[in-house]
Amino acid sequence: MKTIGLLGGMSWESTVLYYQLLNQGVRERLGGLHSAKIVMHSVDFAEIEQFQVNGQWQEAGTLLADAALALERSGADMVLICTNLMHKVAPIIESQINAPLLHIADAAGQVIKGQGLKKVGLLGARYTMEEGFYRQRLLDNFELDVLIPENEDRESIHRVIFDELCQGKFTAESRQNYLAIINKLRDKGAEGVILGCTEIPLLVRQEDTDLPLFNTAALHAQYALENSFDSHR
Ligand code: GLU
Repeated sequence: MKTIGLLGGMSWESTVLYYQLLNQGVRERLGGLHSAKIVMHSVDFAEIEQFQVNGQWQEAGTLLADAALALERSGADMVLICTNLMHKVAPIIESQINAPLLHIADAAGQVIKGQGLKKVGLLGARYTMEEGFYRQRLLDNFELDVLIPENEDRESIHRVIFDELCQGKFTAESRQNYLAIINKLRDKGAEGVILGCTEIPLLVRQEDTDLPLFNTAALHAQYALENSFDSHR
């Protein structure tokens, strides 16, 4: 079993999920008292969010690259950025470390493609939905056609992520709003929807809709476990 390095705290509401899922996955595989080998660097999310708002992506990337290096020095055999959005700075981090960075879009893309889907909706932070770093990777590596909500809906999704979900607030009203947006994506031809923000699965669950939902936090953790137990990787 290899050691998994986590860049967490973005936000900690979803980092908790990673910790749980990784440990549950090891228990399923090995049983008994076995648990995941994890090293984590958890940031102060307010500092990261300030970098985002100011467009200081280089600074954010440097902060996370330094943290990833520290994880490597602490024995991490692989590094995960426990958020979709901060994969915007994945190239900065990758340029500084030797351990593989397991990309969250690859974790989702391989499963979606494996299920034979071609067109999927994407919900996430504004930058994740609008910029190329996530959608283009899904298109280039997995031939997935990615649909995003309309401008007004993108704004409300983004606002709920930062003002509510990342602050531990989960309301029925926001759940209904998200489900209405998911239905609009279905009407536009989406065969499934990527929950491309690691906190969204805490608000919207598969039981809430019959359209397949892809929980990126869970798929990312699963991808790390596959790597942790695969001696050929
Ligand atoms: N956790 C969210 C994501 O998966 C957004 C928080 C952030 O990283 O800014 O994208």
